[in-house]
Amino acid sequence: MAHKVIVEKQCGCFKKSGDAPIRHFDNKDDALIAANSWKDEMNETYCDKHHFDVVESGDDLMITMGMRG
Ligand SMILES: [Zn+2]
Repeated sequence: MAHKVIVEKQCGCFKKSGDAPIRHFDNKDDALIAANSWKDEMNETYCDKHHFDVVESGDDLMITMGMRG
């Protein structure tokens, strides 16, 4: 459980999804794959006000939130 995927900012859509903002992974490849598919899912299913990116932060991966447009 050395690697974390962390949703840095949780907008209303994230809270409605009921997901926990941190997921733990044993290896970084798994964390990276999960972070990217999680980010894609957020970009596709959340409101159009926000967009999400994956940023590496040491052993962890942050999903950052920005405003669209
Ligand atoms: Zn949103």
